[in-house]
Amino acid sequence: MTGFKRFRSPNVSAALNSGFTLRALIAFAVLLLLVFILATVMLVGIAHTQNDQARDQGLFFAEKALKIRQENLQRSISDYAFWGDAYLHLHAHVDLDWAYTRRNLGSSLFEDFGYEGLFVVAPNNRTVYAVIEGQLQPTLIENWLQGDIRALLDESRARVADEQSVVKVFQVDGQPALVVAASLTPGGDPTVKEVPGAPSVLLFVDVLSPNKLLRLGDDYALSHLRVARGAEETEGPRFSVPSADGTPIWLEWDPAEPGRPLFRLVLPLLGLAGLIIATLSGWVIRRAMATSQLLANNYSSLVASEARFHDIAQTSSDWLWETDAKQRISYLSERFEVITGHAREKWLGRPIGEFLSFARVSSLASWVENPEVQATPYTPLSCSYQSATGEYSICNLVVCAIQGPNGLLGYRGTARDITVEVESQARIQQLQHYDSLTGLSNRKQLHEQLERLMSGMSDGPISVLSIGLQRFKQINDRFGRSVGDQVLVEVSQRLEGFLREEDFLARHTSDEFVVLLNGGFSSEEEIADLCSRLIDCMTRPLGAVKQQTALNVRIGIARAPEDASTATELLRCADIALYWARHHKNTPWCFFTREMEHHIVEEQQLESDLHQAIGNGELRLHFQPRYRTSDRHLSGVEALVRWQHPQRGLLSPSVFIPLAEQSGLIGLLGTWVLREACFQAKNFAAPIFVSVNLSPEQFRSSDLVAQVKRVLAESGLPANRLELEITEGMMFDNAEGALLTLEELKLLGVKLSMDDFGTGYSSLSYLRHYPFDILKIDRSFTAQLDNAEDGLAVVMAIVRLGHALSMQVTAEGVENEKQLTLLQEMGCDEVQGFHFSPPLPIERLSALLKNH
Ligand code: C2E
Ligand code: CA
Ligand code: CA
Repeated sequence: MTGFKRFRSPNVSAALNSGFTLRALIAFAVLLLLVFILATVMLVGIAHTQNDQARDQGLFFAEKALKIRQENLQRSISDYAFWGDAYLHLHAHVDLDWAYTRRNLGSSLFEDFGYEGLFVVAPNNRTVYAVIEGQLQPTLIENWLQGDIRALLDESRARVADEQSVVKVFQVDGQPALVVAASLTPGGDPTVKEVPGAPSVLLFVDVLSPNKLLRLGDDYALSHLRVARGAEETEGPRFSVPSADGTPIWLEWDPAEPGRPLFRLVLPLLGLAGLIIATLSGWVIRRAMATSQLLANNYSSLVASEARFHDIAQTSSDWLWETDAKQRISYLSERFEVITGHAREKWLGRPIGEFLSFARVSSLASWVENPEVQATPYTPLSCSYQSATGEYSICNLVVCAIQGPNGLLGYRGTARDITVEVESQARIQQLQHYDSLTGLSNRKQLHEQLERLMSGMSDGPISVLSIGLQRFKQINDRFGRSVGDQVLVEVSQRLEGFLREEDFLARHTSDEFVVLLNGGFSSEEEIADLCSRLIDCMTRPLGAVKQQTALNVRIGIARAPEDASTATELLRCADIALYWARHHKNTPWCFFTREMEHHIVEEQQLESDLHQAIGNGELRLHFQPRYRTSDRHLSGVEALVRWQHPQRGLLSPSVFIPLAEQSGLIGLLGTWVLREACFQAKNFAAPIFVSVNLSPEQFRSSDLVAQVKRVLAESGLPANRLELEITEGMMFDNAEGALLTLEELKLLGVKLSMDDFGTGYSSLSYLRHYPFDILKIDRSFTAQLDNAEDGLAVVMAIVRLGHALSMQVTAEGVENEKQLTLLQEMGCDEVQGFHFSPPLPIERLSALLKNH
């Protein structure tokens, strides 16, 4: 089905064939072995049969030999026992002369026939004639023969009538002996008269001596015929002869064993042949097994690699493809369907160029033949295609040519979808150059753009406007980040709407925007005019914030070529100008000057000095007296901090308090002032109050109430002699939290005054809802009392408002008698200012209090 699988079959069949051959070989070897075993068994069988037959034959011949010997013996005795002369000379009376001397029945029987014993036993069973081995002997038969002879005698007598002899086997000196007995009869001789009574018995004894047995055996092909010694069974053939007393006498001989040569000769040859065959088949089988194992291994590694390929094709994020030489698709992996959404069948057989659009080349062939690609073969070829859902996707193709023995067979490779990567890349590109919230260019893009402008400065001057949003952090804190974000978007849209097409706008930091004005604005006046209009536009109420909130915007302006020659430097100048505009309240925009830079450097130096100032005891407290208007009685003092700088002398708080607020040192500084003021006031000569200014940071601190309580306790100053001065701005950030803090402070028994009334974001609602005791009219209003009717009306209105809300009203910055008189007439309760006294060091205040 696939190009990747086509190579499988020949190897598989080779592996299968090798398995078959091996099995056939083993079967053949087993068969050979079986035939071999069968032949051996048969041979052994034949040999055994031959041996058995030879044994049976031997037995037959042994029996036969003995029988013939017995018959010979019987025949011999018949010739003598049934003979009238013998009857006459041995029964009626024993005639030794006739019998022995004249050798009628004497030694010749031994010499001619080899019968060792010849006896005649009288009717009374006495031995009357005995010739042993040819010699006449006075021996009784029962003494010579072992065994009871009487039964034999009786039997032979019983058979006298039909002249029959009886043979039995006895032993003589341990050798078997055939004893034949026959009664003596006249043998039909009419001349011999038969004696009445029992007959005498003639006995011949044929001792089967070892020699005789050997000879007998030789006659019947029984090798070494002999008497078997010992009762135990032996391997060899044997034959039992029943003796007269019933105990068998065993004769044995060496077995003929005609099968033995088979065992001796054929079996070893057969064994040798078997061994050779077994070794050869073992070797062949081992070779076959090794070959087959090799093939099996190849086969299983083939199967494993096939499975591996399948798994990789399945699990890979890439899809695999193959074409023929004409670049028609011949294979697509399953992943193709998952990734592209197309069915494989739809594309199989079609040119790959129809599916993919190649980015740099016209065909796979031109790509593969490209010298650059040949140098680095896995260089991906970027392609695009349309997925089943119609979206354009991008993929990287790795291509390799398939070469056959007769040339190019086709191409194959992988395709990796990189759409997401490309999109992410674009997104990263976007993020690198654009601000994600507002979509404006970011700081990086700004730099690049400014560098571009400055490198080709032919178009004329370049102005950089750094636009900062004042107190933007408070908007974030008060309304939440999402509102803050909306404000920023709104600001960016307003700016875009305001600017010309050729101007460049970027978001520089979280609450700073930068405008690059390229040409058109050459004079300061033109730029100032632009800034003025821009601020008008920016300070219109915000749509994002429900409450009527307007932005406070500051602008720092720097220009090239006069201020700087590089982009970085020019931006820094604009930043300095903005910093200046942010911290110096006179104008909402300012142009960069070298003095500003110098000043800022000084400020930075001062800021770092301030770090040590608190610890080094360089801070001082001055006290400015406050007087009751009615009788000009000194009612209390305002504590005002000073910094005795080692080089720069006594510094005003307006110089270093903003620095302390910027650098976060204000908490430490405020704590020091509070403690110092309370401890000093405790030692005042008169029980007047002391008022302490709180910084916004200090007021927001969660520790404030506890801190005031602690300081009062430690210093021993009664709470009603402490006044805390708070500006309106402090309540702006967190109105509810501020109310809570003020109420807690009130509970301690301290007095609260609203400082600088009229300068901030002040709204009357604060005054109405917050528990202030005193309202301090800012000195800018007091100053206006000198000038115009308007000023008088404003101050009068504030005094009335204070009184209407049951507050004591204190006027700050009273510098002359006229102001004092007017304030007295208005009913202002308290006055403070240079007209009475500047802030005094403690020594001078102490002197004043004493005189007072
Ligand atoms: P402020 O609270 O309004 O303090 C009154 C300022 O007006 C003082 O300036 C004082 O010297 C000045 N002043 C008093 N009488 C007159 C007058 O008749 N005419 C004029 N032109 N000025 C007068 P100073 O001492 O330089 O303090 C400036 C500001 O620094 C204070 O304004 C206050 O906001 C802040 N400040 C001073 N001490 C502390 C402090 O211990 N903690 C905090 N957080 N702020 C302090
Ligand atoms: Ca004050
Ligand atoms: Ca004040």
